[in-house]
Amino acid sequence: METEILHISSTMDTDKIKKAANALQEGKLVVFPTETVYGLGADGRYQETVDKIFKAKGRPGDNPLILHVGREEQVEELVLEIPQAAKDCMIMFWPGPLTIIFNKNPDVPENVTAGLDTVAIRMPSHPIAEAILKEANIPVAAPSANVSGRPSPTKVDHVKEDLMGKVDMIVDGGITDVGIESTVLDVTVDPPMVLRPGSVTVEELKVLLGDVRMDEGLIQAHSKKLPKSPGQKYKHYAPKAECVLFGGNLSNVAKEVNRRIKENPHKKIGVMATTETIEMYQGADLLLNMGSRTDLREVAHNIFDQLRYCDEEGMDYIYIEGFELTGMGAGIMNRLLKACGGKVVLGL
Ligand code: AMP
Ligand code: MG
Repeated sequence: METEILHISSTMDTDKIKKAANALQEGKLVVFPTETVYGLGADGRYQETVDKIFKAKGRPGDNPLILHVGREEQVEELVLEIPQAAKDCMIMFWPGPLTIIFNKNPDVPENVTAGLDTVAIRMPSHPIAEAILKEANIPVAAPSANVSGRPSPTKVDHVKEDLMGKVDMIVDGGITDVGIESTVLDVTVDPPMVLRPGSVTVEELKVLLGDVRMDEGLIQAHSKKLPKSPGQKYKHYAPKAECVLFGGNLSNVAKEVNRRIKENPHKKIGVMATTETIEMYQGADLLLNMGSRTDLREVAHNIFDQLRYCDEEGMDYIYIEGFELTGMGAGIMNRLLKACGGKVVLGL
């Protein structure tokens, strides 16, 4: 399949916005930037168009998709009811990086929800995503635009690496802002439950909704319980290199990592550190700064790009510093734990 690349730098490019929206309406696969990561979109009203997403990504059929809308009114046709908690969240966080789980309208195709009775919906705030979705005026099913299992794409080059020749169109809209996928909140249960942590934090949701739970297995390295969000059971976000996550006292972390680097002189080792600690590491083949511990948004923005970069540079191992499990740290640790496939060294 030939993949057309469409550069859209502003919502003033109305011809190009229309072109991307028309392609979606015609049942084509269109990658577009959102404020979280790049999404691989198709018309969410039909089983056949949605099926193309699973094929292009190699995504398991039991991992449901998120429907993206440009207008709040579109939600009504996709769900059975809009609970008060959802109404409050939509006012407060939409458009933005919060996905809400509703009881689904039976018309929503089975493969969108992987046979579940619930449907995930989000309204993105990225101006180009917003403009395309408004223009198309259909629900667009769109998972992250990566081959299943790989780190999510935050730059158009990541998308090209994974999906060139497998999709009809890639809209190049620059680097995404947040860098990790949306927070997923289930409002069909009381109290509401976070099924995937993200940049809308549990603490923020509690301010709005009072009691909010988080599926604790999401930030545990070796949880025995199956996560409530089907997609979370898979190995995810994983680079080709073997990743290990280190937590505890930061100078002890650096000492342990340095010891391992010394012990493995013939392995190429990448280290993902922070502004506060980067000077403490010695002998890494690639030393990357995820950002400052005082600004975890910057860290979230960088992690997927750096995991991919370590692969590009041919690292055998990636040693990564851990973060606190609260606020934005929960979203970052959820992604890093999955990238490490449970290989963690804690309590240093
Ligand atoms: P992705 O679009 O690749 O970020 O993946 C979408 C995520 O949303 C997956 O982790 C899914 O498990 C989650 N998700 C989508 N629909 C539902 C649903 N109905 N119930 C629970 N989680 C869902
Ligand atoms: Mg994904």
